[in-house]
Amino acid sequence: MNEPRPVLRRCVACRELLDRQQLWRVIRDHREGVLLDRGMGRSAYLCPTEACLDEARRRKRLNKALRCQVPDSVIATLQERLSFQRDSR
Ligand SMILES: [Zn+2]
Repeated sequence: MNEPRPVLRRCVACRELLDRQQLWRVIRDHREGVLLDRGMGRSAYLCPTEACLDEARRRKRLNKALRCQVPDSVIATLQERLSFQRDSR
């Protein structure tokens, strides 16, 4: 049996190539707008770290990657996830 090969995606902030499963996925869905983890359309990937989220927010990397305005609520949700990860450690 073949090992499933990881699908590599580039983080929009640090530009590292990483296994897609380790990254957050932000999708510009055709109908619903910008979504996290699900949807059909242009996708941007981001490391689940404070450094990359900060960088992405300050330089508007997600907006540029998705070619649209990413709502603050999306960024806020990612920040919540980060603090949740911190608290559960
Ligand atoms: Zn990154």
